[in-house]
Amino acid sequence: MKFRLFTFLLLTYILTISTSFATPPLLLPVDGGVNVPILLYHRFGPTVADGMTITTPVFEAHLKYLKENGYHVIPLRQLVDWYLKKGPAPAPKSVVIVEDDAHKTVYSDMLPLARKYNVPVTVFVYPSAISNAKYAMTWDQLRELKKSGLFDIQSHTYWHPNFKQERKKLPPAEFDKLVNTQLQKSKARLEKELGTKVELLAWPFGIYDDYLLKKAAEAGYISTFTIEAHQAGTADSVMKLPRYLLVNADQGKAFAQILTGTVIARHLAY
Ligand SMILES: [Zn+2]
Repeated sequence: MKFRLFTFLLLTYILTISTSFATPPLLLPVDGGVNVPILLYHRFGPTVADGMTITTPVFEAHLKYLKENGYHVIPLRQLVDWYLKKGPAPAPKSVVIVEDDAHKTVYSDMLPLARKYNVPVTVFVYPSAISNAKYAMTWDQLRELKKSGLFDIQSHTYWHPNFKQERKKLPPAEFDKLVNTQLQKSKARLEKELGTKVELLAWPFGIYDDYLLKKAAEAGYISTFTIEAHQAGTADSVMKLPRYLLVNADQGKAFAQILTGTVIARHLAY
């Protein structure tokens, strides 16, 4: 009996102490303190052909690591919906996978692995390259991606301009016209070809500013994406969500650090 009383008093004491010295983990914000890494890939292959290639075995190792360590790969839209208060907070250990540029290896290498591990992917496409540039996918391949039920196809402008350089070259009215075309034509073409709603935009080279963000909102985009190396958190704006640009060296510990948000500094390949 005495022992029980002691335990009771001890527990009461511990509870009082822990409440009065409550640290953030004990008082989580209502939204659950969202922190989601958005992993950005470009191309795949047997060898590291350039700075933007992740070898296919390394990509598979990433997917395996996520699966074996209890991560949930969620669709990008699910994260965006939370920012827009249209959906619940992503579960802890949520991760998003995206790809920029619609390289042909998305079809040959990424699609089979997305199927094997059952993970959703969002591909950001600049339509001028599709069924045109040798390195890019065709419209039929994009339709097949969409049909898999795992891929969402969204906008990466019409022909991937460098807005920083274009702004220097063009008179303001011409630059304004170029921006409108790049944002509107890409959305319209993708919606027409794929019969999908396009309202997410990845900035080419990660270049954006307040003017471009305003133009994107006017063109009907509800969320845009940069290449800033940190997790998408509660304080981030849905109009400029960060993404980790992955390189082939992001293996083992380096990959784990991205997932836990403990990367201190990253060197951009762009
Ligand atoms: Zn790009």
